[in-house]
Amino acid sequence: MIDFRYVRANDVADAVRQIAADPEAKFIAGGTNLIDLMKRDVERPSRLIDISRLPLRSVEETADGGLRIGALVPNSDLAYHPQIAQRYPLLASAILAGASAQLRNMASTGGNILQRTRCYYFYDIATPCNKREPGSGCSAIAGLNRISAILGTSDACIATHPSDMCVALAALDATVHVAGPAGPRAIPFSDFHRLPENTPQCDNNLQPNEIVTAVELPARGFSANYTYLKIRDRLSYAFAVVSVAAALELDGDTIKEARLALGGVAHKPWRDPSSEAELRGLKADQSTFVRAANVVLRDAKGFQHNAFKIDLASRAIVRALTQAASGTPQSQSNKKIR
Ligand SMILES: Cc1cc2nc3c(=O)[nH]c(=O)nc-3n(C[C@H](O)[C@H](O)[C@H](O)COP(=O)(O)OP(=O)(O)OC[C@H]3O[C@@H](n4cnc5c(N)ncnc54)[C@H](O)[C@@H]3O)c2cc1C
Ligand code: SF4
Repeated sequence: MIDFRYVRANDVADAVRQIAADPEAKFIAGGTNLIDLMKRDVERPSRLIDISRLPLRSVEETADGGLRIGALVPNSDLAYHPQIAQRYPLLASAILAGASAQLRNMASTGGNILQRTRCYYFYDIATPCNKREPGSGCSAIAGLNRISAILGTSDACIATHPSDMCVALAALDATVHVAGPAGPRAIPFSDFHRLPENTPQCDNNLQPNEIVTAVELPARGFSANYTYLKIRDRLSYAFAVVSVAAALELDGDTIKEARLALGGVAHKPWRDPSSEAELRGLKADQSTFVRAANVVLRDAKGFQHNAFKIDLASRAIVRALTQAASGTPQSQSNKKIR
């Protein structure tokens, strides 16, 4: 039995005050990740600060034509929001590729970006894991590493970030808004999540005394030519083995602008601007897409059970870009499933 306290935050300032006062406390939003981790004894917060009733549930237009998504907007509401479905269908597709309808109803925008790795050893408290217990070692490097990373790994950790939504947010150049004792600040999405390096216990650059208040999308939504392609072990209710968010702006068959982000391959959603630069100004065809895939994966390194991911990611990138270029309708149903 874990002894912990449960309290509610009255407003954002109260939430910040409470988390700053107790370094062992944790926010709880939808609870779909945190409660599992508590049941497995991976997380042992001294108190849960319930933020689920804070007024962070709206999706609002910004002055420069983008959208500001409150941190508590449920994943389902976000995917089916008319502005997201029409202007940012890449994001809607990525969200609907994740988890199950029931989980998406509970999961929040802020909780999704802060969900923790699904590395088997992170969940198994009987095994060494540098992310769970810094300095104890990494069981995945010489263990079962089929689901582990192939890019940006370190000798301390080879875990992946499991979110689908985050891969689309990376491709769309989102910004994360947070608030802390020093006031609000904005973090570009590409700087929000971290690579493991020597401190794999830190998943991201959010400070322990800060709360995520919103995620902002810029005006550009790539709604004509996009694809979220998720390769997984079964058709639904499974995390990505490899996923690709691809978005293009075309002038005839020439690429004016490109976005490419990968999931299931690194400790953070993997976006490589040099691969996007490789695509710009070229004809949208297979040889161009293969070149971009080679750039993204030039430093990829496989482990005993996951080397197949390098070839899989390469083919997934080419397929996703091909689908995006031809405006292929998405396989994810946009029908409301609640
Ligand atoms: C069986 C299963 C299958 C799944 N499959 C997928 C999948 O295929 N793809 C996918 O992307 N996801 C998947 N998920 C993960 C799911 O998307 C996440 O659990 C969910 O998004 C987390 O959101 P939440 O609101 O429930 O977070 P919580 O569990 O409430 O919180 C998660 C973490 O974020 C912190 N937190 C929450 N909100 C804030 C905030 N505003 N500011 C600061 N800290 C905050 C909490 O303290 C906690 O540490 C799956 C989950 C399960 C259980
Ligand atoms: S890969 Fe990371 S999360 Fe998994 S066992 Fe190693 S240190 Fe832990």
